[in-house]
Amino acid sequence: MERFYSDYNQIKLRQVKEMLDDAGVPCFIKNEFIQGASGEIPPHEALPEIWLNDGSWASKANKLLKQLEDDLANMDDVEWVCSSCNETNEGQFMLCWQCQESK
Ligand SMILES: [Zn+2]
Repeated sequence: MERFYSDYNQIKLRQVKEMLDDAGVPCFIKNEFIQGASGEIPPHEALPEIWLNDGSWASKANKLLKQLEDDLANMDDVEWVCSSCNETNEGQFMLCWQCQESK
């Protein structure tokens, strides 16, 4: 077994777990419900973790994680306003949809 990932953000952790499940990577979550259950556990020990059943999956899992993080980063792109025509464009577009001015 090998510890693969840990995050305070349980939503992100779940996304990572789901991604691994979808890819058929055998894994499980540790410490999922420990937060809030006790204030006595030091935070770094109470962090929810994803473990791989087998360390040989690590390189595949890391590749998938990188991809997921790239996707999440792209989704975070904010809207931008075209400097030429003042049209609002979504973050993923590099050119203004109205006048083709570049971002
Ligand atoms: Zn424009």
